[in-house]
Amino acid sequence: MSDAFLSHSDAALLNRNLVLRYIRSQGRVSRTDIWKSMAISRASVTMIVRQMQESGLITEVPAPRSEARRRGKGRSVSRYLCLNEGSRLMYIFEWGSRTLCLVNLGASILDSLQLSFPPNCMPLGFAQVVLQGIGELRKKHPVDPEALLGLGLVMPGLIDSRSQTVLHSVELGWRNVDMCSLFQTAFGNNIFLERTSHMIALGEFEFGMARTFNHILLVLMENEGIGASVVVRGDCQHGHNYMHGELGHIKLPEDVPCSCGQRGCLEAVVRYHLMRNGNQVDDALLDYYSMAISTAVNLYDPGIVLLSGRLVRNLGTENRDLLIERIRCRVTDGHLRDLTFGICREETHMGIRGMSAHIFNHHFAV
Ligand SMILES: [Zn+2]
Repeated sequence: MSDAFLSHSDAALLNRNLVLRYIRSQGRVSRTDIWKSMAISRASVTMIVRQMQESGLITEVPAPRSEARRRGKGRSVSRYLCLNEGSRLMYIFEWGSRTLCLVNLGASILDSLQLSFPPNCMPLGFAQVVLQGIGELRKKHPVDPEALLGLGLVMPGLIDSRSQTVLHSVELGWRNVDMCSLFQTAFGNNIFLERTSHMIALGEFEFGMARTFNHILLVLMENEGIGASVVVRGDCQHGHNYMHGELGHIKLPEDVPCSCGQRGCLEAVVRYHLMRNGNQVDDALLDYYSMAISTAVNLYDPGIVLLSGRLVRNLGTENRDLLIERIRCRVTDGHLRDLTFGICREETHMGIRGMSAHIFNHHFAV
């Protein structure tokens, strides 16, 4: 925007998005709830609601009988507004689980497909497999182009989510891959790319364990690498170079070469120890993890630390408790500060649901 003032149509769109987000966050609301809790006039609420009903974004549902009775006949709020979850759809692919999903506006997975890629898959081949998968899902669930919000890609590595570029991924073996150019024919500009740990963290904030927390630190621990994500009031932190949370390259006193060209990086040390111990996490590794994670806690001061990834899921309760205890011991005032720990579960598909929130936030930005 060229000046500091919102045009009339910008303001109208902003109000619509504010109301839509309010309805989504509350589940179901009455018109009175909207104008009472938001600084929008009654007349505007009526207009916004009518427009959103016409475009199918929201729908009216009858109030439960008990509630209608309680409020009394005549002045009862007999109808509520709620998000019309099926009115908009999106395709989301997550590299970690190799899953392609058809997802609705309410972050529900309507259908999914497991994709398989050839080893050392290059970008063009990758796009081909994903597009084929979308074709298969489309056969079962035809999607009206008007209802399609886009394609979300949840990928590992360094990612520039503004230009939709995979800057560098050791796991994929890619450098500077522009995902827009790969999918533009099918999706135009509605292509969304984000890194796995960011999307799991956002999913946990929107729908999961971290709903009541404004400061979230998520640590993704996989055999291939380790990454951290910070979400502040619903915003994923990216950093100046999209290198925020590169916890895997914290230096440890071990002389092991890393894929980044340096030595002693946590990620490289983990890989070296796992290789030597038949993929078992030994005591030294638990210690290294606790050093890295406690450093991140000291830096960001989160209210909740979410531990995610295959490696942490395979730890077993005893080692997991030990890891958390060691983190607490290393953090400043670790046993006094208000700090919660949570273990992310795989079956909640938070990476995919987080991406659906990311796409929602883009289309209905405030
Ligand atoms: Zn490194």
